[in-house]
Amino acid sequence: MFRPKLLVLAASLAVAGLANAALPASNPFAEVSKLPLNYPAFDKFSNDTYGPAFEEGMKEQAAEIVKIANNKAAPTFDNTIVAMERSGRLLDRVSSVFGNLSGANTNDAFEALNRELAPKLSAHSDAIRLNEKLYARIKALYDKRDKLKLDAESKRLLERYHTDFVRAGAKLSAADKEKLKAYNSQLAALSTTFSQNVLKEANASALVVDTRAELAGMSDKAIDAAAAAAKAKGMDGKFLIAVSNTTGQAPLEVLTNRSTRERLLATSLARGSRGGDFDNRDVVLKITKLRAERAALLGYPSHAAYQLEDQTAHDTSAVNKLLAELTKPAVNNARKEAADIQAVIDAEKGGFTNAAQDWAYYTDKVRQAKYAFDQNQLKPYFELDNVLHNGVFFAATKVFGITFKERKDLPVYHPDVRVWDVFDADGKQLAIFLGDFYARSNKRGGAWMNAYVSQSKLMGTKPVVANHLNIPKPSAGEPTLLTYDEARTLFHEFGHALHGMFSDVKYPRFAGTRVPRDFVEFPSQVNEMWMTWPEILNNYAKHYQTGAPMPKELLDKVQASAKFNEGFRTTEYLAASILDQRWHQLPADKIPTDVLGFESSVLKDAGIDFAPVPPRYRTTYFSHVFAGGYSAGYYGYLWSEKLDADTVEWFTENGGLSRKNGDHFRKALLSKGGTMDAMQMYREFRGRDAKIDPLLERRGLK
Ligand SMILES: [Zn+2]
Repeated sequence: MFRPKLLVLAASLAVAGLANAALPASNPFAEVSKLPLNYPAFDKFSNDTYGPAFEEGMKEQAAEIVKIANNKAAPTFDNTIVAMERSGRLLDRVSSVFGNLSGANTNDAFEALNRELAPKLSAHSDAIRLNEKLYARIKALYDKRDKLKLDAESKRLLERYHTDFVRAGAKLSAADKEKLKAYNSQLAALSTTFSQNVLKEANASALVVDTRAELAGMSDKAIDAAAAAAKAKGMDGKFLIAVSNTTGQAPLEVLTNRSTRERLLATSLARGSRGGDFDNRDVVLKITKLRAERAALLGYPSHAAYQLEDQTAHDTSAVNKLLAELTKPAVNNARKEAADIQAVIDAEKGGFTNAAQDWAYYTDKVRQAKYAFDQNQLKPYFELDNVLHNGVFFAATKVFGITFKERKDLPVYHPDVRVWDVFDADGKQLAIFLGDFYARSNKRGGAWMNAYVSQSKLMGTKPVVANHLNIPKPSAGEPTLLTYDEARTLFHEFGHALHGMFSDVKYPRFAGTRVPRDFVEFPSQVNEMWMTWPEILNNYAKHYQTGAPMPKELLDKVQASAKFNEGFRTTEYLAASILDQRWHQLPADKIPTDVLGFESSVLKDAGIDFAPVPPRYRTTYFSHVFAGGYSAGYYGYLWSEKLDADTVEWFTENGGLSRKNGDHFRKALLSKGGTMDAMQMYREFRGRDAKIDPLLERRGLK
């Protein structure tokens, strides 16, 4: 996943500049960080530094915008568009830090400030986008864009600003603009509530287990950790199992006690819809209604239609078509996998029918039977540091020539965060990379990348980017052994990081990952290919104790099982994508009142209501689409995967891992950010449009 910045405004960046006069010099945001590449001075930030910096930052940018809009001189590209790109530096400094820390390392003060700021930031953004004089200048320039003798990137920037403003409501009447502002402000507050509820609900939903016996299958260490967690909450003698992000929960793979599995899954599924303080059902109804009303005001039949217009997919029918086409083959696959699972249950004389809580546990047994290995055999070969240095970084060195050096002198916001200098093939510094890998109770679920500083030639900035994962932290002195999925996530998120670090654009608006949402997952998914690429795998997959390489047979089995469980994976993903679309394709007068009832009818109607495979996210904890930036956009992972699978084929056709291939991919694609139409960029990289066959092949859908 990739996390957009808090503000979707004209981005502006931290560069050497004047200190802000109205903010006391003691406030660490008053000045551009003097650390290398403007790396954030994490040791200087405290809870009370953010609020004043936001207030002053909004004030400062508002003044800059008024000056641009009221300029007596006729509009020029420089005095209008470039001036906007340069505006809001202080606000950008504080929001890039606050926006990320409120996800990665939050606290009560952050959450209170977030609730207070969300509507204010939304109003600030509206004041810019709905400024009539400013829009008139942009429009005047846009109308004569072919005569301005702009280079391609500048011309695109002008077009982008025009589109951004129109989509934000610049053409509405004064009265409708006021309505729009009210929608935006309410929606900003509701999204914040949704995401805070998800985190609080996850903590409040932890499963309490009375006896050690009920946790059979879990390692002694994991059970001890569960006992310690219970004790910390005053439940001495009991065990507490944390519930994480997705519907599926890691302990379901190992718990032998069926009723514990059932309770854990039920707990996960009930999040946000079981009553209590953190119930998200009403929040969802309000969000979907307001989004639909806002879309109608802007002239669109639904929020999804509004969102998709600006994506590479363009419209709801293209997305519906893709999802519908894949549903049947995916569910058929899942049914076949379910039959394999049932055969194991029956052979063990289990005496029950495979249900959702059984899938993860028995699927590993099927894997053992079919491919003669289980997930646990892999873990000793996937030690975090090894996978990172000798896998992820090694691949980047081989493919792109970049190198890494860890440094310990820069401040971090949590002792687990690590920092690397990244150097280009010519030895010059390319970027700084932060890794924040461990789960914490004050960290949002899932994995994501973000930029603290984005690359821009206009601003003279180089990237400072970070990856966040949620790997359970082992006890002191124990190694961090990754599951297959965690190792893949490490490669995935680093693909986003590469997209940010290789950015070579002039304007901040186009830096790195500022591409359509259904394109942004493409580079990150491509990077996953190196995880199992023999030369890379041989380099990192070594036993953490003995250093022995992963046995060839195990390696072959891993490769052979690549399509294993794809029916499940694709089905749970499609179910979530369909929920996202159906909620957001509703017009305002069709919003239901019963969230769970609507959810089940949608799944049934789409033919994806296969009980053993629930959606990857249910509506009430689907943060991607109700709090993050993926509303009507969750399909984008699969949409991007079409390009990804086609690109893997390109690498393979061209001899696989080589600097030549890497350099072409970097030059034609990773360095270009949003400076070109994404599909045109792909065409220039590949020499043709992407074909869907490699994706169908990979997902076992052919
Ligand atoms: Zn991603």
